[in-house]
Amino acid sequence: MNRRHGLMALVAVITAVFVLLTATALPGYIREVGDLYKPFEYAQMYLEDHPYSELIIEYDYVPGFEPSHIAMNTLEEVVYRYTDKREVIHRMDENVALRDTRAVYTEEHIHLLVDNYKSHQRGGESMVLYVLYLDGAWKEENVLGLSYGGDRIVIFMQTIINVSRRSQNLQPHDIESSVLVHEFGHLLSLVGRGYQSDHEDPEYRHHCDESAGPCVMAADVEVSVGRFSVPPPTDFCTLCREDLELIRHMKDDPGIEELITAVVVVGGMVIGIGWIVVLVPKKDHSEEEYILYTEQYRKDFGK
Ligand SMILES: [Zn+2]
Ligand SMILES: [Zn+2]
Repeated sequence: MNRRHGLMALVAVITAVFVLLTATALPGYIREVGDLYKPFEYAQMYLEDHPYSELIIEYDYVPGFEPSHIAMNTLEEVVYRYTDKREVIHRMDENVALRDTRAVYTEEHIHLLVDNYKSHQRGGESMVLYVLYLDGAWKEENVLGLSYGGDRIVIFMQTIINVSRRSQNLQPHDIESSVLVHEFGHLLSLVGRGYQSDHEDPEYRHHCDESAGPCVMAADVEVSVGRFSVPPPTDFCTLCREDLELIRHMKDDPGIEELITAVVVVGGMVIGIGWIVVLVPKKDHSEEEYILYTEQYRKDFGK
C-alpha cells in the first residue's frame, strides 16, 4: 500500500467516524441547547432512570410561605411510585427577597424570579424539578398553581391558604399537596398533552374527567364553603396511570434537529468522498513503458 492508499483509508475512516458521531450526538445536543423537547420527552426524563437516575427538587419560596413537609413528602412518594428514579433530593434553596414579591404576578414576573433564583440545572445523573412558592396571586383569579417549561412549577400559597379557610376542616397543606402533585402530573404530560387521551375533560383541556373516580388531575379543587370538605385527591386515577405507561413509550417524530443533522452528515460525506476522489492515484505517464516501432532502413538495398 503506497502513501496515497494510506491517505485514502484515513480519509474514509475520519468520514465514517464523523458521520457516526454526528448522527448519534448532534440531534440531542441541538435539542438540549434549543430546549426543543416536547412535553412527553420531559415526562420521560422524570419517568425513566436514564439518563437521569435521580431527581433534585429545588424549592424556592417567599419567607412565611415555605412548602410544608407533608406536601413535599406527598410529591416525593408520587415520584417513587410512578417513576424509575432511585433517589429524590430536596433542596430548600433560597428565600425570595421581599423586594421581588408582589400582590399579583404575571408571566413576566415569574420568568424574572425563575431567572434570579433557579440555581440547579439538569445534567450528569440529575434531573431537576423547580418549584417556586409565592405569596401573592396569579393575574387570573383562583389559580392555585401552574406549571410551564417542562420543569417548572409555581405554587400560589396565599391563594391556597385563602381557599382552605373557606372550609370548616381543610388545612392549607391538604390543598397544597394536591396542587403540587397536580402540577407535576402536567409535567408528566397529563392529560392528553401531545397524545390522544380518552378521558380528557372536554371542558377543561389537559385535565381528567374523573370517569374512573377521583383524580388529582381534575380541573379544579372543590371546597364546600363553611362546611366539611373531603381533602382533594393527591393521586392519579387508574386511567391517568395507564396514560403514564403510554407516555413512557412515546417516540419522537423527526424535527428540526434531525433535519440539521441530516444536512451536516450529508455535507461531511460529500467532503470525505471528495477528498477520496482527489486522492485516487492518477496514472503516472513518466513511468510508462514506451513501445517503439522503429523502421530499419535496409541499407544494403540494391546490393
Ligand atoms: Zn391543571
Ligand atoms: Zn385521572
